[in-house]
Amino acid sequence: MATRLYTHPVCLEHLVPPGHPERPDRLRAIAKVLAHDVFDPLDRVEAPLADEGMLLLAHPQTYIHRVREAIPAEGMERIDADTVVSPRSWDAALAAVGASVTAVDDVFTGRADNVFVATRPPGHHAERDRAMGFCLFNNAAIAARYARKAHVAERVAIVDWDVHHGNGTQDIFRDDPSVLYCSTHQMPLYPGTGASSETGAGNIVNVPLAPGSGSDLFREALETAILPRIDEFQPDLIIISAGFDAHHRDPLAELNFTEQDFSWATAKLMESAGRWSSNRVVSLLEGGYDLEGLGLSVAAHVGRLMKG
Ligand SMILES: [Zn+2]
Repeated sequence: MATRLYTHPVCLEHLVPPGHPERPDRLRAIAKVLAHDVFDPLDRVEAPLADEGMLLLAHPQTYIHRVREAIPAEGMERIDADTVVSPRSWDAALAAVGASVTAVDDVFTGRADNVFVATRPPGHHAERDRAMGFCLFNNAAIAARYARKAHVAERVAIVDWDVHHGNGTQDIFRDDPSVLYCSTHQMPLYPGTGASSETGAGNIVNVPLAPGSGSDLFREALETAILPRIDEFQPDLIIISAGFDAHHRDPLAELNFTEQDFSWATAKLMESAGRWSSNRVVSLLEGGYDLEGLGLSVAAHVGRLMKG
């Protein structure tokens, strides 16, 4: 078996104004590093567009309709201070969701050991009925709910190491103890949520890190607060909200992680998946805004996934 990689050209057509950090070049930077011959064994598949019904797993119909109506016929439309849509954004969002749920199928049916989904828009800030922070639909939340519905997974763990707190994922699962949501993130920072006191139905583990925190504090957070909770929870699937904006090169935050930290964390979560979830790991791209830092980090992360 292999590591599968999903992306889709339409994700390059989700356009943003000049200077916006969540830009198509992010996916081009990822494609460039993954073109290296060490990544030849990747099983590269074009992301299928999701049925719109999949969105209902995490969002109400009224919200889905509102996003659809906001998509302009031409130009760009701002639907939040940071979140912009353009004519192909709907299909890009469906490709991101489609890849995320198909990745779940892949790991449950044995088509892949693990999967990395390189799509945009990202998802972890999207709440049940609110687009924000570059996110329209919550890919990780939809994938988790899909695993429960389509593959009878009893418990799913989502680990989010993006430098920003995944307020959307927390919002969606705050009263759903079938999903464990664990996040490391810089605090204070956008979106302002993610205090350790926010525990939902006992299924939310937030480990805020002060600006300037580096490798040691990240690894300690994972080893002392998150991995033990995963062992307690015994998930049938581990989903990674893989943002790489905690990298020291990133312009949006002040954490100082290295690409080796992402490789290390990947290995740790693969160990957990080996214990509890038959190695099932689905990793979804979230943030990461310095193109070089993003490329190095994705290479380290995917390289580790490929080691199985
Ligand atoms: Zn982020």
